[in-house]
Amino acid sequence: MSADSYLVVRCDAPGCDAEGHWPVRHIPYTHTELRRLLRIERGWSRPRSNGRLEDRCPNHPA
Ligand SMILES: [Zn+2]
Repeated sequence: MSADSYLVVRCDAPGCDAEGHWPVRHIPYTHTELRRLLRIERGWSRPRSNGRLEDRCPNHPA
C-alpha cells in the first residue's frame, strides 16, 4: 500500500459499487477504524449474511 493510498470498503449489495472511504489522508489507519467512522458518520453498516460479514452503504442496509 502506497503512502498516498486511501483505505476503501465497498458495498456488498448486488449491483452496488458504492465505495466508503475517509477523506483525510492517513486517517483512519485500519479498515476496522474506517468501518467504525463510516458507521457513525455515514450510515454504513456491517451485517452478517450467510455467515460472513458484509459492508453495506447507507442505500443498502441489510
Ligand atoms: Zn450499496
